[in-house]
Amino acid sequence: MNVLVVNCGSSSIKAAVLDDASGVVQARLRVERLGSDDAVWRIGDGENVSCDPTHESALAAALPALISGCDEIEAVGHRVVHGGTKFTTPTRITDEVAAEIEALSELAPLHNPANAAGIRAARKLLPDILHIAVFDTAFHATLPRRAWTYGIDNELATKHGVRRYGFHGTSHQYVANRAAEFMGTDLRDLRIITCHLGNGCSVCAVEYGRSVETSMGMTPLEGLVMGTRSGDIDVGAVLHMARAEEWTLDDIDNFLNRSSGLSGLSGVGNDLRDIEARAADGDEGCRLAIQVFAHRVRKYIGAYTAAMGGVDAIVFTAGIGENSALMRHRVASRLDFLGARFCEDTNSDAKVSADSPVFEISERGARCRLLVVATDEQHAIARTAGRIAHEDDRVRNPRTIPVAVSARHMHVTRETLDLLYGEGHELTPDRPLSQPGQYAAAERVKIIGPRNEIDRVRILGPIRSKNQIEISRTDEFALGVDAPVRASGDVTNSPGVIVEGPAGRVELKEGLICAWRHIHMTPDDAEHFGVRDRDVVEVAVTGTGRDLIFGDVLVRVSPKYKLEMHIDTDEGNAAELSRGAEGALVETEGVARLQSRKVRYD
Ligand code: AMP
Repeated sequence: MNVLVVNCGSSSIKAAVLDDASGVVQARLRVERLGSDDAVWRIGDGENVSCDPTHESALAAALPALISGCDEIEAVGHRVVHGGTKFTTPTRITDEVAAEIEALSELAPLHNPANAAGIRAARKLLPDILHIAVFDTAFHATLPRRAWTYGIDNELATKHGVRRYGFHGTSHQYVANRAAEFMGTDLRDLRIITCHLGNGCSVCAVEYGRSVETSMGMTPLEGLVMGTRSGDIDVGAVLHMARAEEWTLDDIDNFLNRSSGLSGLSGVGNDLRDIEARAADGDEGCRLAIQVFAHRVRKYIGAYTAAMGGVDAIVFTAGIGENSALMRHRVASRLDFLGARFCEDTNSDAKVSADSPVFEISERGARCRLLVVATDEQHAIARTAGRIAHEDDRVRNPRTIPVAVSARHMHVTRETLDLLYGEGHELTPDRPLSQPGQYAAAERVKIIGPRNEIDRVRILGPIRSKNQIEISRTDEFALGVDAPVRASGDVTNSPGVIVEGPAGRVELKEGLICAWRHIHMTPDDAEHFGVRDRDVVEVAVTGTGRDLIFGDVLVRVSPKYKLEMHIDTDEGNAAELSRGAEGALVETEGVARLQSRKVRYD
């Protein structure tokens, strides 16, 4: 699905058109210097075009240029910084939602007005398309109360919405998922500390898939030392300076948000590349900036390990986390006490990109893995917007899955057919099957098990590269063999059996399986249902003698397939299945992904 992602900052805008699944970008827009007389926009690496200084007028001019050469846009994802306590999940934007996002400007005066302006401009340009707000705060909605509460008067805190919300949630969630995929473990079985170290910096404790602690607070000022923000500081120190320097509230805001952090400490700006270069040349301020920055991150890692009672992976992401080997060295070496054994060599080689987003920098076999992961908030927003648009499509245009009973049958190789039916025998198509190109052949064979025989088992064409006999549990007992439940094509280490045809017998070494109940679908169906090849889903089947839910249904996706669910005769009988039975996916959120299970297909 083609998604437009709009990310409005206070003085700049990033927007792009990309595919929600692959993340492949068709076109990018950058608007800079908003609020000044020399505001400009450009598409990709194109020429700068001058524009009016407001978000709305800049977008009104630039968005048509961005989308003009692109495939049709099917959804728009908006990054919204603050969702307050109201928006804890990605939300379809209606007039009311847009107004509420604007009203949250009180909590995020720098960000939400810009986000709201972007929403207004994009909805005006694309009024008939679904717009979805993806909130930076949403992932942290699971923080326990003890983590989000400040130690201040409760009544006053409630009155003014003063609590910890946390930010960078889209990035923390994205990289935690990537890390879990890399580790081949379900995110729900892992305790991960994600360190988003960019211009803004935050750490998050992701306990079994949920954010339980994060370093930013009511605003993105709390926590780590950042490019220009101080992070944690004793408010008493701020009061002291404000009194001594006779600062206004705006002066305090400027001091803490814009002239502190790496910039304030180093005195040479907020770019760590310059700071590292000067530190290497002996600049004391730059050395101190690096030391304070790294120390603060280490401190948070220790604290979050304690908060979760352990840690399975520590992730470094964003500009500094992905690129600064020096900073990762300072943060992650000597963490052996918590099971993380830092590898100096891989750390210096670490390189991540969209094509290769994860790089491990811990020693082999370490209990806690150290990973560098490329973040991609734009892709994460596109994926979320795409998922919601697909859900919308499912509700508006529900697609039902025809259910068919697959009777016992055999697939044969050329060699086996020669032995069963004579050299060079060709299968005789009897009737086509629902899956394109497949047919039931007129040829039938006898399956001979240790206990009993089953006669007249159909051969299905065309010829395959492996022999395979698919039977039901009842057949298995009749034959006296123990057949594993497998995906079609996955016959390694399955039991063998004797097969007899008119021209002779074959003793197969392997090939007897009970077929794993499955759904064939095209990539378009998979996109509609929000599933991927090898997902395992639940299907509610109706139009039968009994309405049933079938769990453990394997999804198989190929452009060659036609949408249909296959169950075996036992299951068909149990469901009292009649012609015209249909299934619907029960749940796609909790789909179990079988990345680590090796399932082979024809
Ligand atoms: P972000 O906000 O994620 O785009 O991060 C931007 C920051 O990452 C920059 O301001 C730099 O401080 C830092 N950065 C980017 N590349 C490098 C690098 N190669 N070495 C050190 N720091 C880097």
